[in-house]
Amino acid sequence: MINKKMQGLGENSSVIRELFEYGKKRKAEIGADKVFDFSIGNPSVPCPDCVTESIKRIVSEKDATMLHGYTSAQGDIGVRTAIADYMNGKYGIGCEFSDIYMTVGAAASLTITLSAVAQKGEEVIVFAPFFPEYKVFVENSGADVKILTVDTKDFQVNIEEFENAITEKTAAVLVNSPNNPTGAILTEETLTKMADVLRKKQQELGKEIYLISDEPYRELVYGKECPLPINYYENTIVCYSYSKSLSLPGERIGYILVSPKMKDKKAVYAAVCGAGRSLGFVCAPSLWQFVIGENQGVTSDTSVYAENRKLLLDALTSFGFEAVNPDGAFYLFLKSPSGDATEFSERAKKQELLIVPSDSFGMGGYVRISYCVSRDQIVASIPAFEKLAKDYNLKD
Ligand code: PLP
Repeated sequence: MINKKMQGLGENSSVIRELFEYGKKRKAEIGADKVFDFSIGNPSVPCPDCVTESIKRIVSEKDATMLHGYTSAQGDIGVRTAIADYMNGKYGIGCEFSDIYMTVGAAASLTITLSAVAQKGEEVIVFAPFFPEYKVFVENSGADVKILTVDTKDFQVNIEEFENAITEKTAAVLVNSPNNPTGAILTEETLTKMADVLRKKQQELGKEIYLISDEPYRELVYGKECPLPINYYENTIVCYSYSKSLSLPGERIGYILVSPKMKDKKAVYAAVCGAGRSLGFVCAPSLWQFVIGENQGVTSDTSVYAENRKLLLDALTSFGFEAVNPDGAFYLFLKSPSGDATEFSERAKKQELLIVPSDSFGMGGYVRISYCVSRDQIVASIPAFEKLAKDYNLKD
């Protein structure tokens, strides 16, 4: 019998994907340069030359059977050692290769981690606005999603609300900083307070509560440091991906890092291996493991995103739109002048602007603009945004 839940997930694609597909159709109708597609987070900046060089060298120099063969289920030890060395040198984590599990991107890192630490009858706390797939990933583990909303004044966690939401059912808390869709970074103060609450609650409830830190945008920050949750709370599991930092989203490569300070680290790591096994996520692609192993600490040219961010933010605020000033990632979260996200997205479509309504991110009243597009697209789209502002009489 067909699994109806899976059928439903397959038949109803995400709003982001729907808009992206609409954009492709519209471009075929009126020309690619006339459609301003800000729907999807596909980096426009190419991967760095050193990554391309690594690919060529590895393919020509490594023994083919080894290169294309299975690695250990958890990933190649040399590659995991390179990641551990980098994380220790840069962030002082104190981890070893045996704390790391290689995966096919952040999506797999998250589904594995959630299956490892959450199950039916439990809850995972997420903060709206959130990456829409979180709901799918959490529910796949059997657990329920418990949604808290961040404070829209500064897009930080409301600590009192957070404390009240944690119960004996809470298995894990999922954070994403820098955030998709707001670009907000969780501050040191927020992380310190969250860690204090979690420790207190663990004590009170007599159970472990895990903090899952989804970090695909870790390096995409604009003039600010991004504090890492793993340095604030010992029961942290990092879900990382090279999709955004190295512009490799189609290659599907990332990792899970279990905090070396975790009390039951061995058991949690074993559960990660078990979840990877049960979901069929073993032996991440070996070519890509070797490539990223050689390119620790390297990123694509993020100055392009910084420039796009400034151009767009300056123009939109000058037209009278209200936006969250993003400290990281490559998204702009723009308030709907009517208060209705879908109405705003539909009205923008009339100017050929494809921007994602915020409802599927768990919060109404905003749209998300992915500015990881070419600078030319940003420049060309500005008159369309100006017309949209006029349509709402924003300056009157
Ligand atoms: N988490 C967040 C917050 C994202 O924005 C994305 C992709 O856009 C993912 C996870 C999934 O990343 P990946 O493509 O590496 O699976």
